[in-house]
Amino acid sequence: MNINSINRCTIIGGGFAGLLSAIYLSRKNIEVNIIDKRLFDQIEFRFISKLSQQEHVHILTREGTDQLFELFPDFKEKFGSHKFPELNFTSDIKWNGPQGSFPQFKSDFGNVYTFSRKSLENFLLDEIKKLNNIKIIANTEFIKPLTCEERVHSLELYDKINKNYYEIESDLHLICTGRNFKFIPILNALGIKDFKQEFVPSNLFYRSFKIKTNYFQTKKTKAIMTTTFGNKVPNGSVLYPIANNEYIVTQVSRKFIDNIYDFSLKLHDREIYNVLKSAENIGKEYIYKIRGSKRIKINKIKKWPKNLLSLGDSMISLNPIFGQGLSLSIVHLKKLDQWLETSENELEYQKSLMQISDRAWKLGTIEDKRMNATGLKKVFYSIGEKYILFLINRAKTNRIVYMNLISLLNMKTSASSFIFPINALRDIRN
Ligand SMILES: Cc1cc2nc3c(=O)[nH]c(=O)nc-3n(C[C@H](O)[C@H](O)[C@H](O)COP(=O)(O)OP(=O)(O)OC[C@H]3O[C@@H](n4cnc5c(N)ncnc54)[C@H](O)[C@@H]3O)c2cc1C
Repeated sequence: MNINSINRCTIIGGGFAGLLSAIYLSRKNIEVNIIDKRLFDQIEFRFISKLSQQEHVHILTREGTDQLFELFPDFKEKFGSHKFPELNFTSDIKWNGPQGSFPQFKSDFGNVYTFSRKSLENFLLDEIKKLNNIKIIANTEFIKPLTCEERVHSLELYDKINKNYYEIESDLHLICTGRNFKFIPILNALGIKDFKQEFVPSNLFYRSFKIKTNYFQTKKTKAIMTTTFGNKVPNGSVLYPIANNEYIVTQVSRKFIDNIYDFSLKLHDREIYNVLKSAENIGKEYIYKIRGSKRIKINKIKKWPKNLLSLGDSMISLNPIFGQGLSLSIVHLKKLDQWLETSENELEYQKSLMQISDRAWKLGTIEDKRMNATGLKKVFYSIGEKYILFLINRAKTNRIVYMNLISLLNMKTSASSFIFPINALRDIRN
């Protein structure tokens, strides 16, 4: 498919991947419909029903930031005028854990952005409002794609207000339905077999709440991350800025968190507890249970319908502990940008997304696989864990190991380059 053959595109899902793809396609002069099952207020131009992860803190990794600004160069200035907090990973984020305290070395390796998902969604909606070829069709549920001769020509939708089914026709259809969407019935309806579903359970509770504090005004660092990596029951917490003096604290545990203060006291370091004690306005709390990481492996399938693609979390969603989801959606869109310029077919595009998401999958599942391992695998993971802890210790005195660790957390290098120092050297030289 070539960009010149697309006049109209329908995007299912107005989350991060869907809204960003809509802006991208609209700027290519394509007419875009965004279908979302959530309620929408046309006057305020905002979704009324919220996504459940909306008030959890979101970090955009360095790789995601770089690729986003390549696709949308004007966003850099707009992020600045929106005052989205920009943090340098090697000087602004203090990482406290049993292995010590970081940053150890300063560098110009930065910068990442932190947001609440709601503020990011509102930013994208403000951009969409300025574009006259995007229409948001809310309160409408995607039911199934309709095909003719292995080509998707339209989608069946359900209008939840008028309670009726109808069809919408387009030249291209993007499925951006996020992590809770049941994709397998769609594949079945399309007659696609030979795929495999891979699921790595996590069962993690995320608890987030907003605070206001002046704590960082007198500090060199602007955010705190406290981990207890290596413990039997890993607990962790982050405290990241989202706007002027407003911060989100996110606490993560394999057990339900009863009391935010008691939980902070049990962390390896008490700094977050000290901030909480002096903070104002602890707002509403948001709890999200992550059941695990899930992907649909399609590397063996032989056919995929024309005019239909899936982006974002809909086919691969991760335990968000390493904050990779937004960046993955951007990488998927970057691939779409290349794909529309070439005549690759849809199957190749979809398979290539699996490949480029693999690095994030490995990083996002390694800790859960370690926790779930039994027998020989457990031995293997415990050796691996000791080696990683050794490397984290080395990162305190060795700049190469340190930079590689930061690159790994920012999706710039793969987990294997951190594990095998020779790869790390090669990566750093490149
Ligand atoms: C607690 C938590 C913390 C996270 N932290 C980070 C982080 O720090 N950094 C990071 O990069 N990522 C993070 N993520 C992941 C990030 O939120 C996702 O990767 C990202 O939102 C994926 O965007 P998406 O558009 O694919 O899906 P979503 O944002 O979930 O959007 C999906 C949309 O599709 C709509 N939809 C679904 N089904 C249908 C249907 N049948 N019909 C019509 N509409 C439908 C939904 O209403 C929704 O609007 C976190 C996730 C969670 C849960």
